[in-house]
Amino acid sequence: MKLVFIGPPGSGKGTLSKILATKLDLSHISTGDIIRHNINHKTPLGLQAKQILENGELVSDDMMMELVKLTLTTQENKTKGYILDGFPRTIAQTEWFMKIFEVDYYVFFNISKDTIIERISGRRIHPTSNRIYHIKYAPPNVENKDDITGENLIQREDDKPKKIKIRLAVYQKQTFPIIEYIKKHATNYCSINAEQPEQTVANEAITMLNISHPQEEAK
Ligand code: ADP
Ligand code: AMP
Repeated sequence: MKLVFIGPPGSGKGTLSKILATKLDLSHISTGDIIRHNINHKTPLGLQAKQILENGELVSDDMMMELVKLTLTTQENKTKGYILDGFPRTIAQTEWFMKIFEVDYYVFFNISKDTIIERISGRRIHPTSNRIYHIKYAPPNVENKDDITGENLIQREDDKPKKIKIRLAVYQKQTFPIIEYIKKHATNYCSINAEQPEQTVANEAITMLNISHPQEEAK
C-alpha cells in the first residue's frame, strides 16, 4: 500500500504514520526526518537546509524532488509500500509527484489551529530514532527521557512559539492549496478527523482505508 499524508505541522502525520507503518509493515518516509538526519550528520544537503528549517520555511522544490525521487525509487520502498509524510508541500511538488508516482490514497488531516499550537508546543522528540512524544498526550515514562534508550528528548528549534507562527503561515500559503489541486486531479483521497485522540484517529484511518483490525486478523 502507498499512502500520502497531507496536513499542517503538528496534525499527527508522523504519529499515525508510525502506527500504520508498524501495523502494515510499510516504510515511513518523513521528509522532515530525512532532512533533520542530514542536518545532524552535516551532509551538504543538511548544511544547506539547516537555516531554512530553523526559520520554519520550506526547502527548495528542486532539492525536495531529488530527495523524494531517490528515496521512493529504492527497491525496498517500491515493493514494500510506504507512507509519505510531509511531501508534497507545494503545488509544484504536487504536480511533479502526481505525474510520476501512483499511490493508493492521499489522506488529508483536518484539525483546528488551537489544537495544532497545543500539539506542536508540547512535542518532544528523540532525535536519533525520531520517536515522537508529547508532554501531555504522549508523555515518556520518565520526564524528558526516551523510553527505549533513556537519552534526553529535545524540543525542535522550529517548534518554539515564534517559529510555529511562521510555519502555520507557510502552510496556509503554500501547502493548503494542494488539497484543492489533488481533489481536482485525483479521486483517491480521503479526510481524517485529526482532532481526536491518537487511538481514535488510528481506528478511523484503519476503517477508512479498509485495513483489517488485529482482532479480525486473529480470527
Ligand atoms: P506532524 O507529523 O503532523 O507534525 P506529530 O505526529 O509529530 O505531527 O504530532 C505532533 C504532536 O502531537 C506530537 O507531540 C504528538 O505526540 C502529538 N499528537 C499526535 N497525534 C495526537 C493525537 N491524536 N492526540 C493528541 N496528541 C497527538
Ligand atoms: P516536518 O518534520 O514535516 O515538520 O518538516 C520540517 C521541515 O522540513 C519543514 O518545515 C521544512 O523546512 C522541511 N521540509 C520537509 N518536507 C518538505 C517539503 N516537502 N518541502 C519543503 N520543505 C520541507
